[in-house]
Order: sequence, then C-alpha cells, then structure tokens
Amino acid sequence: MTTQKQKIALITGASRGIGASITQHLASDGFAVVINYASNAETANTLVNELIKEGKTALAIKADVSQPAQVKALFDEVESKLGTIDVLINNAGILKTQALADTSDELFEQYFSINVQGVFNTLREAGSRLNNGGRIINLSSTALALNLPGYAVYNGTKAAVEAFTKVFAKELRGRSITVNAVAPGPVATELFLNGKSEEMIQNFAKMPPLERLGQPEDIAQIVSFLASPASGWINGQTLRANGGLA
Ligand code: NAP
Repeated sequence: MTTQKQKIALITGASRGIGASITQHLASDGFAVVINYASNAETANTLVNELIKEGKTALAIKADVSQPAQVKALFDEVESKLGTIDVLINNAGILKTQALADTSDELFEQYFSINVQGVFNTLREAGSRLNNGGRIINLSSTALALNLPGYAVYNGTKAAVEAFTKVFAKELRGRSITVNAVAPGPVATELFLNGKSEEMIQNFAKMPPLERLGQPEDIAQIVSFLASPASGWINGQTLRANGGLA
C-alpha cells in the first residue's frame, strides 16, 4: 500500500478575513496549509497554533507579496519545510476607496504593487514550481461589475487579476493545473467594513436579493471546492459569489 503525500496549500494574506477562513477550510480538507501574512504575526501564529492543536499541519510565513524577492523566499521556505506546493490561493489585497481624481501617486502605486504585482509575483513562481495537477485560485471582486464611484483604481487592479487568470490557465497547458478566480460581493471583513458608516454597510447588505453581507465562510467554501478534485473541469473562469448582487 502506498501512502498518499499530504498536499500543500499556500494562502496569501491568510492572517485574517477571507484568507483565514480559506485556510481553516483547506486544513479541514486535509491540506498542509501555509499562512502568509504581511505584518500581523500574532493573528497568523494564533491561527497556526489553533490548527496544530486540531492535529493539522500549518505554518506561518511573513512575506510582502508585492516584493519579488520575498515571494521567491516564501516559495523556498515552503519547499524546504514542507515540500512543493499543490494549491496557490492569491488572496492578499487592499481596498481604499477614493475618487480617481483624488487618488495620489502613492495610493495608485500601493494598489498596483499589492493587488496586481503581488499576484503576478506568486503566479510567476508557481509557473515553474507548482506540482502538476495543482490548483490556482485568485481573489477578484464583484466591485468590478458594479462600477461604483470610488472603486476605479481597485477595479483596475481586479480587472488585471481576471486577465491573468484567463491567460495563465492557457499558458499552463499540459500540466493539469487549473487557474480560476472568485469574485466576492461585499464580505464582512476589515477590508470592507473599515471607514464605512452603519448606514452604508446596511445599504450594501440590502443590495443582493439574499439581503445580507457575505461572510468569509461563504467564500471559503467556494475556494475549497475549486481547490478540490471535484472542480477539475472548471478552468480559466471567474466565479461571482455575491448572493445574486451582479
Ligand atoms: P482583509 O480582512 O483586509 O485581510 C487582508 C489580508 O491580506 C491580511 O491577511 C493582510 O495581512 C494581507 N495582506 C495585505 N497586504 C499584504 C501584502 N503586501 N503581502 C502579504 N499579505 C498582505 O481582507 P479580506 O476582506 O479578507 O480580502 C481578501 C481578498 O478578497 C482581497 O484580495 C480582496 O480584494 C478580496 N475581496 C474582498 C471583499 C470584501 O468585501 N471583504 C470583496 C471582494 C473581494 P496582515 O494581517 O499581515 O496585514
């Protein structure tokens, strides 16, 4: 009898929010999980300790995804401590709504370096380092379909993520690796809630016919499916998970 090697999933921006929930799901699915984070070592390590207590394999690694050398070092560390990666979840991202005409060069650069170059950096490593038969799931946003004022630059970054998803799926021909995106509607995390009044939050919550905000769990379940063998025929697609909002 051969023993099946435990598969490895790397989740960027997994210290909190949607990424932390994806991590818990993938760990329950049997993956050894790598929790990448930018600065919140405490929350990342708390999640690792919780998972280890449950008998799961988990590791936290600090790396700013916008920095190519740090992303390369992240892949190196995962390979040396656990092995080659099977599943990459590009979840790290920022949202700071601002009218386009009021957006500073600094904010524009921050947006594109984290939300776009961050995804580019991990995809480039994954191109040569992901195991055949693997899965890549990128986080886009339903904001792209809503065209609300204040979201021009954020939507520009997520449009790039969706473009990478479609082309990279084709460039990985012959490797049995699927590349898909999930585009959530509003989800109750710091990224969405920060800076919004209760009234604004309630207005967003009423927008989808299911009349509530998404929860990290709603998105994590979909990512878990896309990371599983059951999703094997879905490739190069963006799945809009938003309660029917758009
Ligand atoms: P969140 O609660 O603000 O968490 C963001 C995560 O990204 C944190 O773990 C943070 O790490 C990490 N991060 C930020 N910059 C990073 C960097 N340069 N390098 C590595 N990690 C970095 O956000 P969220 O709501 O869970 O969003 C996750 C993803 O879903 C994002 O791509 C977002 O655009 C997308 N999304 C969210 C919503 C929503 O309504 N929440 C809707 C649609 C799409 P630290 O804790 O160390 O700072």
